[in-house]
Amino acid sequence: DGESSPPPHVAVVAFPFSSHAAVLLSIARALAAAAAPSGATLSFLSTASSLAQLRKASSASAGHGLPGNLRFVEVPDGAPAAEETVPVPRQMQLFMEAAEAGGVKAWLEAARAAAGGARVTCVVGDAFVWPAADAAASAGAPWVPVWTAASCALLAHIRTDSLREDVGDQAANRVDEPLISHPGLASYRVRDLPDGVVSGDFNYVISLLVHRMGQCLPRSAAAVALNTFPGLDPPDVTAALAEILPNCVPFGPYHLLLAEDDADTAAPADPHGCLAWLGRQPARGVAYVSFGTVACPRPDELRELAAGLEASAAPFLWSLREDSWTLLPPGFLDRAAGTGSGLVVPWAPQVAVLRHPSVGAFVTHAGWASVLEGVSSGVPMACRPFFGDQRMNARSVAHVWGFGAAFEGAMTSAGVAAAVEELLRGEEGAGMRARAKELQALVAEAFGPGGECRKNFDRFVEIVCRA
Ligand code: UDP
Repeated sequence: DGESSPPPHVAVVAFPFSSHAAVLLSIARALAAAAAPSGATLSFLSTASSLAQLRKASSASAGHGLPGNLRFVEVPDGAPAAEETVPVPRQMQLFMEAAEAGGVKAWLEAARAAAGGARVTCVVGDAFVWPAADAAASAGAPWVPVWTAASCALLAHIRTDSLREDVGDQAANRVDEPLISHPGLASYRVRDLPDGVVSGDFNYVISLLVHRMGQCLPRSAAAVALNTFPGLDPPDVTAALAEILPNCVPFGPYHLLLAEDDADTAAPADPHGCLAWLGRQPARGVAYVSFGTVACPRPDELRELAAGLEASAAPFLWSLREDSWTLLPPGFLDRAAGTGSGLVVPWAPQVAVLRHPSVGAFVTHAGWASVLEGVSSGVPMACRPFFGDQRMNARSVAHVWGFGAAFEGAMTSAGVAAAVEELLRGEEGAGMRARAKELQALVAEAFGPGGECRKNFDRFVEIVCRA
């Protein structure tokens, strides 16, 4: 590095929907801290509403102010000003259209202006925002996408064309067929593929987006950050990805990057008293239930789940949006509160809950963040996938890694009670509990001093800052 070369200016392009932007911000924070000695600055690009949410979340938790070398840069959301309450899929479509129509190029210029004219030297971004690839190229900067979901799902998106060619219009008739002729996907069946790969609506905004992303990544990515750790993905998945994307850098679970200096880890916001309640429960005795921020079972399935939790002898903690509480069986909430056998809350500090020594089982939709949070805490899970990549994740949990079970279709009361009992105390469950502990140890090692994820993150910082 000659003394005359200007310090790196990294543009970080967010996908401003659901939890995507928050995940990318945590990576940007870690990057800002690690790259500070090189004098690097970062511009975090997202829409006004997304930045407002991130600011709110930052100010809500102590120790979360932005690092001095990280600035927020607002980008247009692509929505016509007159339109009110645009449905989220339409918002996504407008945003992606704007990004594709030269938007990202303009955003990078805005980042340059915000940085006092400092040229953008690298574009890091949510892989979803694939038009950033061309914008980076015309700015003469490498594009380093960040993939937030599972590696096998990324493989399915990159292989979408050949999967469609193979399955054709026979997806419905071939649901149970393993994908043996597709490198890295042999453990999965046709039915496990993410929505929009060989079935579902190919024209849905997310289906189109991940398809284009899958085509773009192999040609344009200088490196790809993966939300996994060495030892989690089976060798065939790692090999298949490495063949298409030579510069994969696994340093997940991303939520652990900031864990050391994260004030949240010590005392997370817990307005509904989940941790205090857990403190009164037996060790490894509680079933924690959550289906993430979007998925929700239908009313009849919700009642089956409630009955199943009551039928199992285990105390339960259930994070359930309040608008669903009226759908619970009559007297359910009163009985849970009265006997102290269960706690239903609209929101739980999930990472801390899963780390709590009282939690012994996780009933989950198998969203990727939830799976990784379960893995990092060594908690076995029962998966009830709903949409997107959840079926593929559930398949991985139950059949590739073996630290849990997967419901095929809707949950029944008996199925829930049996799954919870098995995970907590069953004989077959003993294997799952042991496997969950093994993976937890691998994560701890990877994030320990000198661990693989620490080294890989350093390599990521090097790639991003040397440009
Ligand atoms: N989450 C939480 N408390 C809740 C429910 C969810 O903290 O009561 C968090 C959870 O820890 C995870 C995220 O929300 O980080 C959900 O992400 P995931 O990928 O599992 O599912 P999605 O919501 O994207 O379907």
